[in-house]
Amino acid sequence: MRLTRFDPSNIRVTGGGGGFPGGGGGKMGCGTLVIVLIGALVFGVDPGQMLGTIQGVQQQSSAPSQNSAQNSELKSVEELCTANAYATESCNALDSLNRTWQPLFQKSNIAFDQPTLHFYTGGTQSGCGAAQSAMGPFYCPADQGIYIDTSFYDQLERQLGAGGDFARYYVIAHEYGHHIQKLTGMNTQVRQEQQRNPSQSNALQVKMELQADCYAGVWAGKNGNLIDPGDMEEGLTAASAIGDDTLMKNAGQAVSPESFTHGSSAERMRWLKRGLDTGNEDACDTFTSVK
Ligand SMILES: [Zn+2]
Repeated sequence: MRLTRFDPSNIRVTGGGGGFPGGGGGKMGCGTLVIVLIGALVFGVDPGQMLGTIQGVQQQSSAPSQNSAQNSELKSVEELCTANAYATESCNALDSLNRTWQPLFQKSNIAFDQPTLHFYTGGTQSGCGAAQSAMGPFYCPADQGIYIDTSFYDQLERQLGAGGDFARYYVIAHEYGHHIQKLTGMNTQVRQEQQRNPSQSNALQVKMELQADCYAGVWAGKNGNLIDPGDMEEGLTAASAIGDDTLMKNAGQAVSPESFTHGSSAERMRWLKRGLDTGNEDACDTFTSVK
C-alpha cells in the first residue's frame, strides 16, 4: 500500500522508554489473551480492559525478571517513528487511519479522539496493566492506546508466514478498529453484555475481533487508490494465519470453536475482505449478521 509519509503533527506516538531488558526471549503462542481474560475475571477486574489482537504466538511462561526502569527519556514523534522501518510504516498507517476515520465521526456527530501509539520493547506498563511483547499488539480502551513491540512483525513473517507491508498495516488497522469500537460505545456495550451473559463471553469477543478486522478492511477499502497488487493477498494471508483454528492447530492443540476468541481463519478473512470490498463501515455489523 502506497502510504504517504506521516505528518508528526497528525499522530500521537509515545514510547522509547526502558522496557524489560533481555525479556521477551520466551516462546510465544496462542492463548495469552485467553489467560489475560480469565485472570481478569477471576480477579474481578473488568475483563474488557485489554483487547489483544492478534493473539501473540505463544504465551511466555516466565515473568520478566526485572521491572522496567522506565527511563522514558522523551523522544519526539519524529525520532520514535524513524527508529526503524517498521516504526515508520506504523506511523504512516496511523496517520492515514486518523485521516480516514476522523471525518466519518465528524459526519456522524460522534466525538473523535486520536489513539496514542505506544512503541515498546519487551515489556511496558499500559493503562490496562503490564504488557509483554509476547502478548502481541493490543489496544487498551482505558488509555486509548495501541501498544506494539515492532519485533512482532518479524514473528508474523517468520513464524506465521505473513509478510508484506499490508500484513503489517492490517495489524495496526485492526487495533485501530478497537479504538473505533471504544469511541462508538460498542466496547462498553459488549463488556456489559459479557458480564450479564458469561456463557456468551467468548462468542461476543469473537464478534468484536471480527468487527475490528472488518474496520481494518474498511480503512484500506476507502484508500483503494493506494492499494498495490498483492496487498489483499498479504492481508488475507495474515488474517488466516492468526485465526484461532490455525493457531490451535499449529500449537498442536485440538481445535475447539467454543474457546475461540478471535474467530476462525475463514471468518477473519471473510470480514477483512468484506471491509475491503465495501469500504463501508456499516457493512461491519458482526453482531447481527449471521455470517
Ligand atoms: Zn483484536
